[in-house]
Amino acid sequence: MQHRDLVRKAIWSAIYLLFILAPLFALLAGKLPPARNFGTEFSVALGYSGLAMMGLQFGLTARFRYVTEPWGEDVIYHFHRRISLMAVALVVVHPLILIAIGSESVALPDSVWDIPWGARFAALSIGSLIVLVVTALWRKQLKIRYELWHLSHIVLALTAVFAGMLHMVGWGFYLVDPFKRALWIGMTVFWIALLLYVRLFKPLFMLRRPYRVAEVRMERGDTVTLVMRPDGHAGFRFKPGQFGWLTLWASPFRITGHPFSFSSSAEAPDGRVDMTIRNLGDFTNAVKAVAVGQRIYLDGPYGAFTIGNPTDMHVLIAGGIGITPMMSMIRTLADRGDPRPLVLLYGGKDWDTLTFRDELDTLKTRLDLKIVYVLSQPPEDWSGERGRITADVFKRHLPPAYADHEYFICGPDVMMDAIETALGEMKVPLARYHSERYSFV
Ligand SMILES: Cc1cc2nc3c(=O)[nH]c(=O)nc-3n(C[C@H](O)[C@H](O)[C@H](O)COP(=O)(O)OP(=O)(O)OC[C@H]3O[C@@H](n4cnc5c(N)ncnc54)[C@H](O)[C@@H]3O)c2cc1C
Repeated sequence: MQHRDLVRKAIWSAIYLLFILAPLFALLAGKLPPARNFGTEFSVALGYSGLAMMGLQFGLTARFRYVTEPWGEDVIYHFHRRISLMAVALVVVHPLILIAIGSESVALPDSVWDIPWGARFAALSIGSLIVLVVTALWRKQLKIRYELWHLSHIVLALTAVFAGMLHMVGWGFYLVDPFKRALWIGMTVFWIALLLYVRLFKPLFMLRRPYRVAEVRMERGDTVTLVMRPDGHAGFRFKPGQFGWLTLWASPFRITGHPFSFSSSAEAPDGRVDMTIRNLGDFTNAVKAVAVGQRIYLDGPYGAFTIGNPTDMHVLIAGGIGITPMMSMIRTLADRGDPRPLVLLYGGKDWDTLTFRDELDTLKTRLDLKIVYVLSQPPEDWSGERGRITADVFKRHLPPAYADHEYFICGPDVMMDAIETALGEMKVPLARYHSERYSFV
């Protein structure tokens, strides 16, 4: 990993911790109300920490390129999922402790009308969080459409944070001091501003920088390539392996964009970008019906899955549609006249549905490129590799200084898990391999 990335990681991690811990320490500053028993104070601290962590989730998912770049968007989303669970656990444990110690603050009044507003907002916040977690963890089992889930996720998160804040202000034990009250309210405003940035300001920016579809090309394996060019602006530059969020048939204000890797060369002129999309669901099925000339919106580039570190050779390992970022890397290296050896291990079902295989053969004439196809359903006369890409396949086709090469892996999750394990067994250091997972959710 480059020194610059390490420094950026350290700085952003410190800022993240500061945002979580500073408001807690601020609570202890200035004039304090008389202390209560340990259980109450402990439970309240958990509640405050949980809410601070919840609020910061808006920052984690705000797609700040400069922040996410050292890690990669997929790592940030996985962190978001893990840390959110921890935040929700803290918030839920907060009233449970109060109930366990028989605190008066959670005693139910005789009539529901007498329930204080602070408690009502607490119930709303915790209820929203529980629904949010259940729908996030079991969306597929609950058969909730991705787009509907995405919208409800934002609404539930907003409700939880808003209601949590109103609960704190309503309860007011630590927030009687106007300065502390202003600090927490200010922080909530900041979190909401992050959401507005993603949902309002960024789309406004994209609205002024549209793209047009220049070509719709059918590829092998029920896959379509969209060739896109900036319309009235210079476009953006990307690094091979990065991806963008595509919005079709809608304004950039639409909640859900779809992430796709760029498959074209990063050296392509006139801001051209290609995305190669496999039919795997309702949106991807409809892509082949896109008309040439159609206006579309692209948000990008994102991701840390990219070449650039010094290495003796690149080893690209693709499964299925995971070939798209590799294609961008290979095309870019060809355009740059890169003389280093390049090995592509490409796993697929059968020979006919291997996307890009014709162009890959042509690219061999421009690069020191070796391609090893691994088919799970090969034709009878197939003399190449069969089954899955395993450590044995590496050993048969790669020069043995395994730890000196730079590896890039993209494909189905099971394949990626198996390859990461194999590379670990071959003593390839973690910093030498890079993975791009196509499942954020
Ligand atoms: C970084 C990244 C790069 C990708 N690059 C490519 C590529 O180059 N080519 C390609 O064909 N596919 C790529 N994908 C996968 C692609 O984004 C999904 O297949 C596509 O969004 C599915 O949409 P759908 O409506 O057709 O399918 P659906 O039936 O709606 O969804 C199928 C599954 O895809 C996931 N999904 C759906 N919408 C989204 C979304 N907006 N964001 C994240 N996940 C979603 C969900 O888990 C869902 O269950 C990439 C994914 C990621 C995360």
